[in-house]
Amino acid sequence: MVLKAPTAVLDKETIALTIDGSRVEAPKGATVLQAALDAGIYIPTLCYDPDLTPYGGCRLCVVEIDGMRGLVSSCTTPAADGMVVHTETPRVSQSRRITMELIIANHHGDCLTCAKNQRCDLQKVARYLGIEEEHFGRLRRGTQLLPLDESNPFFTRDLNKCILCAKCTRACHEVAAVGAIDLAFRGYSAKVCTAGDKPIVESTCESCGECVVRCPTGALVPRQSRQATRQVKTICSYCGTGCSLFLGVRGNEVVEVQGDRESPVNRGSLCVKGRFGFGFINSSDRLTAPLIKKDGQFVKASWDEALDLVASKLSNYKGDQFAAVSSAKATNEENYVVQKFARAVMGTNNVDHCARL
Ligand code: SF4
Ligand code: SF4
Ligand code: SF4
Repeated sequence: MVLKAPTAVLDKETIALTIDGSRVEAPKGATVLQAALDAGIYIPTLCYDPDLTPYGGCRLCVVEIDGMRGLVSSCTTPAADGMVVHTETPRVSQSRRITMELIIANHHGDCLTCAKNQRCDLQKVARYLGIEEEHFGRLRRGTQLLPLDESNPFFTRDLNKCILCAKCTRACHEVAAVGAIDLAFRGYSAKVCTAGDKPIVESTCESCGECVVRCPTGALVPRQSRQATRQVKTICSYCGTGCSLFLGVRGNEVVEVQGDRESPVNRGSLCVKGRFGFGFINSSDRLTAPLIKKDGQFVKASWDEALDLVASKLSNYKGDQFAAVSSAKATNEENYVVQKFARAVMGTNNVDHCARL
């Protein structure tokens, strides 16, 4: 028996509905999918993203709702007070399996060699739905192979693994506000395109990676893509915006960067430098000791030796003859010391920094 959700105790901004027999409260304006997910009820989807306009494209989130004819996609259906929703009926399961089989039939990819293996939403949803190889016997698999786009220095595009969920195109329009890519062509020829179907590097793409982090498959993957074993929360040091991020660390090496969705500054977004510009951290070119030029060659020196040399040279300058230029790759504390030194010791306000947004 399904219980009707009472509404008497709710405030004006909250509604109550019933999902799979449980009473669920949701804010007014929420979709059925959001109400279910917030209540811990899983509904599979491949095109939903909380930051993007609902698209209703993958058709995996279909549910049955009492009083409505046919199946409806829960990501585009507003939740209503007193609504009774069923997320796991035989009809729903059959529809999802057929949809998933069609998606996979058109998907070229070898999971073992795919950078997304074990982190792939397509794999996860297929596993949830119990899709097995034997289901494909009656389906004609797609044969068209599209060329890899490796033109971007930070990520690769393999449209053979694309499931046309449009997360990337929506992210590019709605989050990055760039519009470098869009869905084009129809039927089997439909694909994600740049203007004129040129390589991504020849488009207006700013390499922010907002599309890459949202792609549910291996169609968009960072070139440097190794799985981290732990995350370290920190602030991006590149500019004065102060985006919050997580450094993915493996051993003693930074292998990936993720934006912090909880940060009010960047809400998970990052620019190309913050997201992909971490190679310098573990670069073998980084200096680990001071160098002093002797006979035209830089040679390693001790810190005492280097500091004595700098101090003796600086005594020749005073006031505005001197300027200090600091670096975003130094810590805030180190940058504070640089400006303090310029003002208090050298007697000048000539202080600059590459992060002065
Ligand atoms: S995108 Fe996912 S399903 Fe496709 S090959 Fe890669 S890991 Fe496998
Ligand atoms: S990297 Fe950024 S700008 Fe380029 S296509 Fe993706 S979202 Fe658009
Ligand atoms: S490239 Fe990825 S995010 Fe874009 S439509 Fe294809 S699967 Fe979706």
